[in-house]
Amino acid sequence: MGTYVVFDAGRRITGRHVRKNCLALAATAAQSSTRINDLWGPNTKRRGKGDERTRCKSCFFEAPPLAFPSGYLPRWVSDAATQFGRAPADMGYVYEIFDPAEKLTIVGSTTDLGKRFAAHWRAVSTKPRLGGGAPWLFDKLSANASYEPDWRAELVARQLLKKLEDELRDDRRGADWEVATDY
Ligand SMILES: [Zn+2]
Repeated sequence: MGTYVVFDAGRRITGRHVRKNCLALAATAAQSSTRINDLWGPNTKRRGKGDERTRCKSCFFEAPPLAFPSGYLPRWVSDAATQFGRAPADMGYVYEIFDPAEKLTIVGSTTDLGKRFAAHWRAVSTKPRLGGGAPWLFDKLSANASYEPDWRAELVARQLLKKLEDELRDDRRGADWEVATDY
């Protein structure tokens, strides 16, 4: 999970945020003339994890797992398995699960799109809000259980997977998207 980390002049962490649309984050960024996405960092473990004082209360809140009927699969998960599934030898997929209207995305790469999307679904549908799934997708599903994100996948040579995935993530961040990172 990525977090938005705010530092003071001495590079001490003064706040961490989960959601880009957090009003407190926007206010802090505006005060220091910093672009919100320049505060983004991919690793909570190295950036103050466990320091409760730096957690923004309005976007770090915990919520219990969403209650979906067992066996239920949304269309984006079943379509990924039927339309793509496992990549041919030496190939893989760079993919994105996204909401274009609000500029929210999950970027990743895999050799088996069906399995990977099923894993994303398990994380967001069976775990608490901060349990490993993308918080923005959790919040969307929490507001509307039948929410369907957009998604796309591109078949590429396996040795290019990581590079193209990183480039796509950087592109999105550069264009002010909220990027949830799952490995
Ligand atoms: Zn916040």
